[in-house]
Amino acid sequence: MNIEKLIRPNILKLKPYASARTEFSGKASIYLDANESPYGAFNRYPDPYQQDLKKKIAEIKSISTSNIFLGNGSDEILDLAFRIFCRPGMDKALSFFPSYGMYDVSAAINDVELIQLPLNANFQIDFDVLKMYLYDPQLKLLLICSPNNPTGNTLEGLEAILSEFPGIVIIDEAYIDFSQKPSWLSTLDDYPNLITLQTLSKSYGLAALRIGMAFAGEAIINYFNRVKPPYNISLVNQEAALKSLSDYSRITSQINEVREQRALLAAELQSMGLTVYPSDANFLLVEVNNSTQVYQTLVGRGIIIRNRNSVMKNCIRITVGTPAENFELIKALKEIV
Ligand code: PMP
Repeated sequence: MNIEKLIRPNILKLKPYASARTEFSGKASIYLDANESPYGAFNRYPDPYQQDLKKKIAEIKSISTSNIFLGNGSDEILDLAFRIFCRPGMDKALSFFPSYGMYDVSAAINDVELIQLPLNANFQIDFDVLKMYLYDPQLKLLLICSPNNPTGNTLEGLEAILSEFPGIVIIDEAYIDFSQKPSWLSTLDDYPNLITLQTLSKSYGLAALRIGMAFAGEAIINYFNRVKPPYNISLVNQEAALKSLSDYSRITSQINEVREQRALLAAELQSMGLTVYPSDANFLLVEVNNSTQVYQTLVGRGIIIRNRNSVMKNCIRITVGTPAENFELIKALKEIV
């Protein structure tokens, strides 16, 4: 697969900005190159390519740092993907419905038409319908969320899409660590058109740090590096992430607790007669009689869930919290429902 053919022509010939810290990245005693202040604790620009943090992530994920791009949240990476692969007003992207709302917003910001195909009754992809779109020469990007937000399930049959679609496939695995099913990360060598998107915002408990991770072949990663703003992740965020990732056992035990709590929460909700959809993520999609009423009543008790009525009639999405938080939620729901 020739990745160059998928890149927007203006990006293909882009001469990327060379920051002071790109031109000289070694150690020196006097820095007079970046018009920084010589005073203060935060006076220096951070490493533009976040090399220490990437080394740590590479170790955790067992891949090479050259296959990693870090964005200011995965939301920044999604925006960059539209800018790299889709010509505004000309090219198209495709995702499914319901799914993560930012795909639509990011496409609209970039003036890219987003085709949204409805998932079937089991929240899976209808391949007969998808096939009618896959070979449209203007279709450049597929956005697949698995486990899917807000339905929580893993999407099946993605191998066929990865091998057949002649464009870029982003598999958004924001919730993958809560799933027992494998990540697509280990298949990067098999699919040169694959970008696996993950984040430190969910299972790693670092949403405040805004660090999203794209894993892809080196050719794709290089284009992200050319297009990104020079210093897209702050020094404070890089250092805090590095520190937090050094205690990986804490993260795995938290993930296990969320998984256990998810099962307990689902069982409680089911015992109340509610429809709870199976979830591989850290949230549950639940159908109630009147989601707006349930939502408002919970707000009155200081408990905030997500009312998803606008995308799925009378559905609420509940994030799995601590055992104490989940207990309070169940107690409140028992009185309301
Ligand atoms: N992808 C999905 C599926 C999400 O649900 C979210 C956050 N709600 C994101 C990406 C954004 O993650 P980040 O915090 O890394 O921008």
